[in-house]
Amino acid sequence: MQCALCRKGETSEAGHIIPHFAFRHLVKTSPTRFIRGYDNPNVRLQDGKTRHFLCPNCEDILGRWEKIFAQNVFHPLHIHHVKRDRDYPTMSQFPYGEWLLKFCVSVSWRSLYDLMLDHPEEPLPHGDNENAKQALTVWREYLIGERESVDAFPQHLTIVGSPVETSGIANTSDLKLFFERGITHSTWHNPFESYVFTKMCRVIVAGTIKDQVRPWKGTLVGPDSGHFSLQEQVLSGVFTSWIRSDIAGMPIARDRLSERQSEVIDAAIKKFLSKNQGDADSEKNDRK
Ligand SMILES: [Zn+2]
Repeated sequence: MQCALCRKGETSEAGHIIPHFAFRHLVKTSPTRFIRGYDNPNVRLQDGKTRHFLCPNCEDILGRWEKIFAQNVFHPLHIHHVKRDRDYPTMSQFPYGEWLLKFCVSVSWRSLYDLMLDHPEEPLPHGDNENAKQALTVWREYLIGERESVDAFPQHLTIVGSPVETSGIANTSDLKLFFERGITHSTWHNPFESYVFTKMCRVIVAGTIKDQVRPWKGTLVGPDSGHFSLQEQVLSGVFTSWIRSDIAGMPIARDRLSERQSEVIDAAIKKFLSKNQGDADSEKNDRK
């Protein structure tokens, strides 16, 4: 089969849709050394899903960006987190190069490609199918070096912490599992915005399919190099509603939540977001 990225090479082995390092982290930090439903309660989890879509050369290229991201961001964030036994991010910023945008685009491209291939009969709402096709084309051309920017289809990056204790919610541990260990990819929308979200434990990449209102602040991944700050980020409401929906879809959560589940989940997310921000601020002050 022809490689979906370079369209020259032939596919050989099945490649991961969501980077393998996230699943390795789950296995390594699971008491049972196996990924089970309760380790990752996200209903959309597909255990390290793979498909035949890349040639060995393209696998290597994507693997290199994954490796740099894992070494510089994912592992320090998650290992640091485990060692210090803290509930919230301990990284306020990290240095990055061109690899960061390449990595984020490769994640969004793979996720959207996979979703569109698996659900061709389900058009995106709000007439966004054409945008999604364009996004895939632009991201693919950027990845193989045929263009230097991703134009109208930028990438946003954020790191989530843990939800704080919320009165009236019986399953804080489920929420904690979702935020810290959930791995999923999905598209989400409102009439003005549309994204493909990929959650790799605490790291979330949002690939823009359409954005007419530009609600994000401090999350945009640039094509150059510098220091990526995780402080003072403002996230789109579409992001919040996607997270909320994923949590509501957790079978464990659904069994345990009362009928007040919607309000309670909303409150938990709100608190988590503000606590997350507060933690980043206090860390910033610590550094002064
Ligand atoms: Zn290829």
